[in-house]
Amino acid sequence: MLWTRTFIPTMKQTPEGAEVPSHVLMLRAGLIHQVMAGAYTYLPLGLRSLRKAEQIVREEMDAAGAVEVAMSCMSPVSLWEQTGRVAAFGDVLVQVTLRRKERKVPVVFGPTHEEIITDLVAKHISSYRQMPITFYQITPKFRNEERPRFGVLRTSEFLMKDAYSFDASVEALGQSYQKMYDAYCRIFGRCGLDYLAVEAESGPIGGDVSHEFMVPASNGEDMIVHCEACGYAANLERAEVGPSGTPAPNLPMQPLCQVETPGVTTIEQVSRFLGCRPQDMIKTLIYTADGQPIAVLIRGDHEANDAKIRRAVKAQHVALAEPELIQRITGAPVGFAGPKGLREKVPIWADRAIQTMCNAVTGANVADAHLTGVNLQRDFQVAGFADLRVAADGDPCPRCSGQLALRHAIEVGHVFKLGTKYSEALGARFLDEQEQLRPIIMGCYGIGINRILASVIETHHDADGILWPVALAPYEVVLVPVNVMEPQTRQVSEQLHNELTAAGVDVLLDDRDQRAGVKFKDADLIGFPLRVVISERGLKQHQIEIKWRWDQESEMIDLEGGAQAILQRIRHEKATNQGFRSRST
Ligand SMILES: [Zn+2]
Repeated sequence: MLWTRTFIPTMKQTPEGAEVPSHVLMLRAGLIHQVMAGAYTYLPLGLRSLRKAEQIVREEMDAAGAVEVAMSCMSPVSLWEQTGRVAAFGDVLVQVTLRRKERKVPVVFGPTHEEIITDLVAKHISSYRQMPITFYQITPKFRNEERPRFGVLRTSEFLMKDAYSFDASVEALGQSYQKMYDAYCRIFGRCGLDYLAVEAESGPIGGDVSHEFMVPASNGEDMIVHCEACGYAANLERAEVGPSGTPAPNLPMQPLCQVETPGVTTIEQVSRFLGCRPQDMIKTLIYTADGQPIAVLIRGDHEANDAKIRRAVKAQHVALAEPELIQRITGAPVGFAGPKGLREKVPIWADRAIQTMCNAVTGANVADAHLTGVNLQRDFQVAGFADLRVAADGDPCPRCSGQLALRHAIEVGHVFKLGTKYSEALGARFLDEQEQLRPIIMGCYGIGINRILASVIETHHDADGILWPVALAPYEVVLVPVNVMEPQTRQVSEQLHNELTAAGVDVLLDDRDQRAGVKFKDADLIGFPLRVVISERGLKQHQIEIKWRWDQESEMIDLEGGAQAILQRIRHEKATNQGFRSRST
């Protein structure tokens, strides 16, 4: 391809409103153009990278035995009502009403496609003999993001690979899940991403087991914990906290004492007012668990984790109680709850950190008052101890003696065991070997294709621009003739271009009549992995100059056999990502 024949509108300035590197650099390198907040046009170079990411995903899905379909973006709202997801998605669901003569047809632009694929399967699969089967597609998805931002990291329209497995047994689902998990590792490995497969809650999509594929990056919107010692990784919702190992301090118990704390309710206020540390205080939170009130005790400097509380008390649903209920249970306004002297007897659950506290500060269950010198057993008893809090940086690892590190990350994929939620709601049943009718067991598996590109850029860029792995670069090689008007330079450049193209290398010839400095700057900004400079001076020695985007030094190679030498280097780098991986941001 010739530079002057394609369309590469590079920019020198940082575009307004672009904050994170991937957004800034994709705009500046002429990969994308903003249509409106949360919607982008992919320009020729951006589209080439997007298609390459898509193709890697397709190849690995095919290799894992999944079959490709393309479902309609539009589907009837009735399907989404049957699964309760109109309410579950709320404003995120993009809905429109089509006018068809006198009829009005309410339609959903799918954020994902469980309903559509399950409806298809319900109509065509009826026997265990037709399974296992996994369908996938790579199509645009729609979410009405309230705050679209960070360029292609968070948009209202995005390209997603979504896959759905259908199995006759839980064991078979386990195999389908593992195939997808392994395929994801190959996909993100080929893309050169330093990813982590983290344990995750299944979230609003339902089911019981899931993993998220996360790329640690300072601008990532998700938080994960990671133990470098053993590799344990989980998202914050799921992350377990290991036993602390610190024994209870052997201090004499102080007498229980009620102190006046007028209008002082938060941990920060109480700590300042009484001159005690947050870790010497106990937060008493009133929750409802499946409608029944419970009290949850968390150390003052820790955060309660609703998902852990839900699992510990074996409830379907937990939520913080409304102020009226809190007042009824504690007999005091919100902000003065404590485990001693609750007006109503409710089960008290405590985080494990409470076990080693002594002489704690708690609310007094009386307006404008707190208690000091509060001690477990003497002053209050609990129904049980459990890990009920959000993991924090430096917490002990639950799997080894290491420490958890808290990191920002970008979610690029997820794998879920869904179970039978959708097959039951939409009547996807099959006859098993005993001729019994049973709901099909499903899994679902997503990858954000645009986010693969954004993750690469967030983790691989420098002051000059993007660094691409060969597998995803818009072009693998850029040829830069220093002076295109010089006949021999031009002739050699074109010949190299033709030889490389014939050998299957993606090559762009910068045939602009521009100063070399301008072309070098653009090449670095866009981030072509290998730059080849053809100059009069070099040609006098029968040589051309090659330089990897991530290296400081260039290398002179012989023009004779030059195309072969370039081809070999590109093939090796594409297979290993060696140079690319050596230079992460
Ligand atoms: Zn560990």
